[in-house]
This record gives sequence, C-alpha cells and structure tokens, in this order.
Amino acid sequence: MGFSSTAMVFVDGFSPPFSCLSIVNRGYTLVRRVADPLTGKLGENEGITRNKEANNNPVQNESLRSSSANRHLHRRSKRFPYNSTTVNQIMAAKLLLLSAICRLIVTVGSTLHPTDLLLVGTENQLSFNRSEIRSASLDFGKMNTVEPMAVLRPASADDVSKVVKFAYESAHGLAVSARGHGHSINGQSQAGNGVVVEMSGSRGGRWRPVVSEKLMYVDVWGGELWIDVLKSTLKYGLAPKSWTDYLYLSVGGTLSNAGISGQAFNHGPQISNVYEVDVVTGKGEVVTCAEDKNSELFHAVMGGLGQFGIITRARIALEHSPQRVRWIRVLYSNFSAFTHDQEYLISLHDQPKFDYVEGFVIVDKGLINNWRSSFFSPSNPIKISSINAAGGNVLYCLEITKNYYQHSDPESIDQEVEALLKKLNYIPGSVFTTDLPYVDFLDRVHKAELKLRSKGLWDVPHPWLNLFVPKSRIVDFDQGVFKGILGNKTSGPILIYPMNKNKWDDETSVVTPNEDVFYLVALLRSALENGEEALTLERLSNENRRILDFCVEHNIEVKQYLPHYTTRQEWMDHYGEKWPQFYKRKMEFDPRHILATGQRIFEPSFTSMTRSW
Ligand SMILES: Cc1cc2nc3c(=O)[nH]c(=O)nc-3n(C[C@H](O)[C@H](O)[C@H](O)COP(=O)(O)OP(=O)(O)OC[C@H]3O[C@@H](n4cnc5c(N)ncnc54)[C@H](O)[C@@H]3O)c2cc1C
Repeated sequence: MGFSSTAMVFVDGFSPPFSCLSIVNRGYTLVRRVADPLTGKLGENEGITRNKEANNNPVQNESLRSSSANRHLHRRSKRFPYNSTTVNQIMAAKLLLLSAICRLIVTVGSTLHPTDLLLVGTENQLSFNRSEIRSASLDFGKMNTVEPMAVLRPASADDVSKVVKFAYESAHGLAVSARGHGHSINGQSQAGNGVVVEMSGSRGGRWRPVVSEKLMYVDVWGGELWIDVLKSTLKYGLAPKSWTDYLYLSVGGTLSNAGISGQAFNHGPQISNVYEVDVVTGKGEVVTCAEDKNSELFHAVMGGLGQFGIITRARIALEHSPQRVRWIRVLYSNFSAFTHDQEYLISLHDQPKFDYVEGFVIVDKGLINNWRSSFFSPSNPIKISSINAAGGNVLYCLEITKNYYQHSDPESIDQEVEALLKKLNYIPGSVFTTDLPYVDFLDRVHKAELKLRSKGLWDVPHPWLNLFVPKSRIVDFDQGVFKGILGNKTSGPILIYPMNKNKWDDETSVVTPNEDVFYLVALLRSALENGEEALTLERLSNENRRILDFCVEHNIEVKQYLPHYTTRQEWMDHYGEKWPQFYKRKMEFDPRHILATGQRIFEPSFTSMTRSW
C-alpha cells in the first residue's frame, strides 16, 4: 500500500474523536487524534506517536510516511490561500468524503457509528474504498451481492485480532468474514454491513511460506493461494500431499470446507494433512492449535465454514514431490462397471496403485471438449462421438494418474500402469494417455480458466451443486439424476469420484455420509444467457432443487459439500448428530456470532446485520 501518490486534505467540522482525515488514492484512511476517554480532549495524532516506535517495520514505516506527509500538509494548510485548482480538489474531496460518511451511516444505521471502526488501530489496512467494497461484495458464484462496510487487508494475525476483538467487544456488534479468494458460490465470505477481511494477496513479503525440509512441513499465511504454496515448496523438492483440482484457492478457504481432489482417497482431504493452525477466534484471541493442543478449536475450524475462527497460519504436511505424471482417461458406458472400477482402485492401499482417482459424467457429448476435457485430442485412438452408450446417452470417464520421479525407469512405469489397467472393465480401445510435468497436472484447471476468460465465459453465474452421495445409493442417483433430471444438457463438468471415510477425521466439523465409501458428485455449472433456455440461471437453479428433492423423496442421504442453506432447521438437518457439538463450539469460540455470517448458520446477535439476513 503506497502513499507516494497520496493526495491529502484536511476536512474541518468533524466531531471528535476525529480531527482530520486523509483521502488516499485507494480510499479514505484515517489519521486521527484520539480523544482522551475521560476528558474528551484531543491528544497527539496517534499514527505519528506509534510510528516513531516502529522504525524497522515496513508496514508501520508506511504509516510513518503517511504521517510525515500529513505534517507537511498541516504546514501547508497554514499557508492559505491555495490556488484555485487545489481549492476545487479540496471541495471535491470534501464532497466525496461526506457522501462516503453518509453512506456508511445509512448502511450501519443508528446502531454503530461508522467511524467507531476506525478506532481499531489498523488504519493502514482498513479501507472504505468503493471499488474494494464492491469487489468484496461479489464471489465466484455471481449470484449474490452483499456489501460490507469496510475491507481489511491485514498485515498480520494481530490486525485480524484487533478487528475481531473490536467487533466482539463493541456494544452494537459487527460481522467479520474472512475472504480467501472469494471463490464461494453463495456469498459465504460476505459480511453484510460488516468487515470483510481480505486474506489473500501479498502481505508485503512478511509472510512468505517457511519450509522445514527436515520435518517435511510448510508454514503458510492463511490467505496464501495453493499455487503459491506449491511454488514455494517445490524449491525444496517437496509438495503438499492432498489437493484441490484448482489451485487459485486460499489455504484458509479450502481448510474451512475440507479441500478434496483425486488424492483424497489415499491421503484424505486437505484437512487431514494439517499439523497446526493459528486461529483468531470470535473473541479476537489468537490461539495456536493442533491435534494435541487446543484440540477442540483445531477440530472445530477444520471444515468449520469459518464459524469458529479465522485461520491466519497453517502448517501443512509435505511429501517428496514427483516430477512427472502419466495421466490416463478411460471410458465406460456401464455405470456399475465404472463405479466398480473406481471403488476397486481406491481400495488398494499397501500395493501398487494410482495416485489420483477421479471421474466425470458425459451427458452431453457436445461438451466433450469443454474446459476439463481438451485432453481428448483428435490424435487419440477413438472418437467419443462414435461410442454409443449402452444405457442411454450417458458416458462415464475414469481419470487416473501415476506420478513418477525424474530418475524412475519409464518402462517400469508403463508396466505398472498396464498391470493396473488390465484389472479394469472400460470400453476396449478407449484409453487416452498423456504425460506431463507434475506442476502442469496440478495446475491444469488454470489453463482452462484462461481459455474461458478469453471467451468471456468465466465471470458468469455459477449455480454449482456439490454432494457427497453414499456408495450404497450411487446407482439410484445415476438413474434419477444423470439419466433422468439432467436430460442431455448440463452446462459444465460433472465430477464423480469415491473416497474412503476412514481418511476423514470424524472430530472435525465436516459431515459426510455414514458409509465407509462415499462419492463426490460435483455439478459445476455455468449459467449462460445465450438464448438456450436449458442454460439459464433459473433453469439450472431449478434443476439443483429438483436433484435435492429427488434425494429426499428417494431417501438418498446425501450431504452437501460447500453447503448452502438458508434456515436453521436445514443446517440442523445437515449436521444431524453433529449439530449439538457444532452449536457448543460456536458458543465457545464465537459467542456473539460475529464470524462468517455469509454462511447463514447463526443469526448474528446484533441488530445492524438484520437487513442483510
Ligand atoms: C474453479 C473452482 C474450482 C474448485 N475446485 C475445488 C476442488 O477441486 N476441491 C475443493 O474442495 N473445492 C474446490 N473449490 C471450492 C473451494 O474449495 C471453495 O470455493 C472454498 O471456499 C475456497 O475458496 P476461497 O479460498 O476463495 O474461500 P472463500 O470463498 O473466500 O471463503 C470460503 C469460506 O471460508 C471462510 N474463510 C476464508 N478464508 C478463511 C480463513 N483464513 N479462516 C477461516 N475461514 C476462512 C470464508 O469466510 C467463507 O465462509 C473450487 C472452487 C472454484 C471456484
């Protein structure tokens, strides 16, 4: 955050505790005199006082620069008159400022004075800038817009703690939500009328990942993107074990859900691969927790949907990184053969096995070249369109990889892959193979993202539905949904892959079906207004509802992954037996219901939020 191009103006006539405001290029930053709580007299400019103590701190040095710029302006303000351009600028700035303050007062209502927030003491990071507020009000789902009052870009856990503590202790209360990379679908990281804590992005170099080669872990800032975690660990030849398909997600964001991909059958979800976290609780306390230290909080935040604390640091388990990947896809027309093979592959443990097992459903062959499947190139041995699905028009694609090291013998890799493929019952001749660097494989979805962006197809509404389906009912789900409700239009990939429940820690906050094996079914839709009725947001959202209704009607006990509900009863049903524990943890770690209100699980205990609920 640079202040070099800062234009600053004194604004008279503001009632204490503020004597002056500086308008910086990215928003309004307060440079304040603090009123003595007893006498009401204005004291020394707090920013200046504090910054004198902080010579070597880059973040505080920024405020030092801002403060000296302020003094400079103070001097200038005594040498009136300004020239007319400056006067105009001052007037314009005053108007801007007034309108911002008015907007804040309207937003917050009479319950909390907006300027109270500026007492928190993180003024360099707190922004009321329109475009920052706008950007924090949106997410990947593009279906909800809820504006916060302010955006915090913390430089440390301490900054997060100050804001949460303020919210917790203030008479009126205030919502505070961490925002990882804003890749939620239904406004989960929004904070109506509150503060959004933008966790991702640079911390001014203060929070670079720290790798322990000896103990095989990396310590990262909670807002670090997984792509950056990967880049930093690869320098040591190491990499995390469990992934998501897409790496432009934040560590805190995926740990608040679970974090799954084709490695989960073997290593468990990402939350099973974390040694320790620092968490700012809903009371503003910074707590280090692990399996054996403050374990209740540790388990609560893993998959905790941001309800119990904001993860500011995570210690992630590493393994020696493979260098290359043999990436294979095979096709099925018979669903039972497909799931039988998937389940067989994830049952292999202490024996040769694939490193990644996923799959997807092809209900619309026209989509075969969509963002996940550019893989099927014309040079491959058979044409998808020539395959006639036995049970209707639906095909299933098993996707597997074998990782290997630079020094591995390519022939032995071939043999291992061959031996594993021999045990499978896919359509003969439908093997598609490619070989690529490990990093390119892990970062595969980003390439697709760039393509979609170039066509204007990324920033569109995403009515996604992610479900965990018990293994015993996956055939019924196939009949009713893939071969039924979906018809032959889907508007996006449909992932399907099984996982082993014993790789999930039942103490965490995540809920999964009550069977040893369950499937992820992810309907990753993009709504398009291109004239095709089947692809409209309304149509796709209705379809999601029909799928959920179908599961209820047929007693298929699915659990939503990345869940979205709007009533307390629905959340209680979602958590089932775990609800009392979830509730107790909430009362203990966020008793005022300040955190992650965008999840709509607990109604905030304060009035300024009511309109956004
Ligand atoms: C293109 C794409 C691909 C995806 N692929 C996968 C996948 O393969 N596997 C998978 O598991 N998921 C996947 N996801 C879903 C992803 O895990 C969620 O969107 C998740 O919320 C992470 O996104 P985020 O980091 O942007 O977090 P946000 O959406 O910003 O936040 C999600 C929730 O977590 C809370 N939160 C964020 N940061 C923190 C923190 N530091 N501490 C505490 N709470 C926090 C927020 O308040 C919010 O409630 C994908 C999403 C997209 C858009």
